[in-house]
Amino acid sequence: MHFNELNLSDELLRAVDELGYTEMTEIQQQSIPLLLEGRDVVGRSNTGTGKTAAFGIPAVESITEADKRSAVVLILCPTRELAMQANDEIRKFAKFKEGVKTSAVYGGASMEKQIHELKRGANIIIGTPGRVMDHIRRRTLKLENLRTVILDEADEMLNMGFREDIESILADVPENRQTVLFSATMPKEIMAITEKYQTDPVHVKIKSAQKTVELIEQFYFEVAMGRKTDALRLLLAAYKPSSAMVFCNTKAMVDQLTEELVKSGFRAAGLHGDMKQIQRTQVMNSFKNNTTEILVATDVAARGIDVRGVDAVFNYDLPQDNEYYIHRIGRTGRAGRTGTAYTLISGRKQLFDLRAIEKYTHATIREMPLPERSDIIAMTKEAVIKEISEAEAGHNAYDILDRLAGMGIDYREAAARVIAKQLNAATESLPDLESARPLKKGRNSGAKTVKIVINIGRNRRIAPNFILGALVDATGMTGRDFGKIDIFDEHTTVEVPETECEYIIDSTDSMKINGNKVEVKLFKGSSFNDRKNRRYDEKPRFDRKKSAYGNRKKAEIYSDYIPNRKKRTKKRH
Ligand code: ADP
Ligand code: MG
Repeated sequence: MHFNELNLSDELLRAVDELGYTEMTEIQQQSIPLLLEGRDVVGRSNTGTGKTAAFGIPAVESITEADKRSAVVLILCPTRELAMQANDEIRKFAKFKEGVKTSAVYGGASMEKQIHELKRGANIIIGTPGRVMDHIRRRTLKLENLRTVILDEADEMLNMGFREDIESILADVPENRQTVLFSATMPKEIMAITEKYQTDPVHVKIKSAQKTVELIEQFYFEVAMGRKTDALRLLLAAYKPSSAMVFCNTKAMVDQLTEELVKSGFRAAGLHGDMKQIQRTQVMNSFKNNTTEILVATDVAARGIDVRGVDAVFNYDLPQDNEYYIHRIGRTGRAGRTGTAYTLISGRKQLFDLRAIEKYTHATIREMPLPERSDIIAMTKEAVIKEISEAEAGHNAYDILDRLAGMGIDYREAAARVIAKQLNAATESLPDLESARPLKKGRNSGAKTVKIVINIGRNRRIAPNFILGALVDATGMTGRDFGKIDIFDEHTTVEVPETECEYIIDSTDSMKINGNKVEVKLFKGSSFNDRKNRRYDEKPRFDRKKSAYGNRKKAEIYSDYIPNRKKRTKKRH
């Protein structure tokens, strides 16, 4: 269905046309007519399906001459970026229509400027719940003339703890208003809000869950533990995406990875919630205008962000939630384009998690081998040939060749030297995933260690060499990679390099010692603290400084692995 089949004003049709929209997306087809009628709507459809226009077009259309001086439409978004983005898009719809004044209100930006805009009679307000509440309290935003409230990404707003703010805003606005809610998922809490605050809502559910995702080719790479950063660098060097997003689970990981990528010469920038608003805006702008090629972000910071032409999404960390996977990869393949999503996994657990995502999304995620150095060198050669074959040589270049010839360096030699330099520049800093890692005790002696605990001990007549043999067998590491082994009556602890701990625990999943199936865990001094065992634990066994895992989340533990990355060179598998 074409936009001009809707009963829209000429001004709006012109704006839509100028944006290059012709056909409506499904969610737009189904919800715009209802919204124009004034119905309450619950809209559910995937990211990238054009929800902003679905509610933004009716919102702009609803503004009349009489609405000059007060807020009549309020749109709540979970993040500042989304509020800004929705504001930008809605302004475009309003380009030819007079009397529409929008104002974006979000935290981390000047209150004065926002108050000024509100005072000037903004009639469509787009904001984050917290800042909107602020303005309501200060009476700088008055809602008595409000006709429509729209909750965009409602599920995410609840996830972010905006429930109270949202409820208090909804309780504050005139009762005979239109209430519209868009959400990617429909958890209980959203249903509760719907029931409490909407009147006879129409549910619009677009089952195109796979539609966006279908256009995205999905691959995964198995990477040795702790080598994800190197793997990512190789992938970026091989695929050379001109615009890519990389997702991590923690802010710390975003910072660290961004730094590593920048150090390796990529134009990368990080985006997460701890950054100041002004920084975030700068990062987003530089990504949108392609000054930044690689945006490293957390899920929350990147939620709903719409940048055209993102050609690849990399899942550096596996998402903590299956739904996030869809959101993440939906950053590419926007509005009918194709894109590619690459996921890095280390260890069996992550492979299982990936299979679960595959099931959940009904997608096929195919395994691909990591590109090898030789592949990248071959690709670089092709690029150099192309570049030279298409380049022009000026006078000055010939002058230099003549002078070199005078020094006994002929043309062929001169050209070879220049080419070699170019090739080196492109490949000298490539990480080498194929080379071995040094975990030998001598060299590794300074490395941080942690302890793992195995639930078998003297009671089963276990000797250290049994333990070591089983560990070597299960992990493919060498005996020298393991430290002190302490055997107690019912359990055994083994010192292992901190960087390998997760890998070791993963790969000893079905390990047997002396025919006994055993369980291997990170030793926290409390994991086997039933009375029987406690007696055998010497007091200061647990060195806080060496292992600060304590209460930290797994994702944070992962990020600890990276700093030692460079020290490894020995091959394991
Ligand atoms: P969502 O909120 O569902 O994630 P957005 O509203 O951010 O999706 O829209 C995704 C992209 O699709 C935007 O770049 C938007 O400009 C574009 N878009 C929306 N509707 C249409 C349409 N009918 N035709 C072409 N592109 C569209
Ligand atoms: Mg959106």
